[in-house]
Amino acid sequence: TPAIEIAGLRKTYGAKNAVDGIDLEVHRGEVFALLGPNGAGKSTTVEILGGFRKRTAGEVTVLGLDPAHPTRHWRERLGVMLQSTSGSTVLTPREALHHAARLYPNPRDIDETLATVGLTEKANEKPRLLSGGQRRRLEVALAVMGNPELVFLDEPTTGFDPEARRQFWTLIESLRDQGTTILLTTHYLDEADRLADRIGIIANGTMVALDTPEGLRARA
Ligand code: ADP
Ligand code: ADP
Repeated sequence: TPAIEIAGLRKTYGAKNAVDGIDLEVHRGEVFALLGPNGAGKSTTVEILGGFRKRTAGEVTVLGLDPAHPTRHWRERLGVMLQSTSGSTVLTPREALHHAARLYPNPRDIDETLATVGLTEKANEKPRLLSGGQRRRLEVALAVMGNPELVFLDEPTTGFDPEARRQFWTLIESLRDQGTTILLTTHYLDEADRLADRIGIIANGTMVALDTPEGLRARA
């Protein structure tokens, strides 16, 4: 079975159709990028898939379960970084990862994970002394700390400098090599093109194109 199955997904906020009929299957082991401008419905979709927001209509299955009815075991198999995720104001990166590691049966190595997101030198820094990009890198590290089967990353590289973006790309490639399924959102075409097996272009809550990077280039 696919990692993610979505049929006819809709979400309205009052009169606003934020997600307006999305169908999608993401296969196990696939890196899938949802690409689109601000307001397209990317965050809402990811929040619904992760069990953080109720849908208005449609069928959704994530790792065999309806995210509207999550279980603890199901949550342990997911890694999630949302736009709204706001980190600890008191824990250093090392402390935050140590805390996260204890929540999972099979956590990653803390130092290796810090290195992977380029935070080794900031491992013991007070959170208020971290830059916005460094905090986001910590959020990415926290999302993958439990060795999840499936990772949701909502605009993970917004605010990254070029070096941090390259490190992030390396992290995604190493997760893919381990067989991790990844759904990420981005508004950077180059990032989707570089990382994704398939790209879904989303605008006004609908999927306007869905293809491999090569397929999309051939159409352009
Ligand atoms: P994206 O992640 O692509 O920027 P969002 O899913 O955040 O898109 O937003 C889709 C649309 O829904 C936008 O028009 C946004 O303003 C609206 N929206 C998002 N969250 C809410 C909310 N909690 N209440 C009302 N409208 C919302
Ligand atoms: P939900 O109804 O899905 O639980 P929230 O609790 O996230 O929505 O949001 C509550 C209210 O905050 C929304 O009804 C909306 O008025 C406002 N809001 C939050 N985020 C957004 C956004 N991105 N765009 C527009 N309005 C928003």
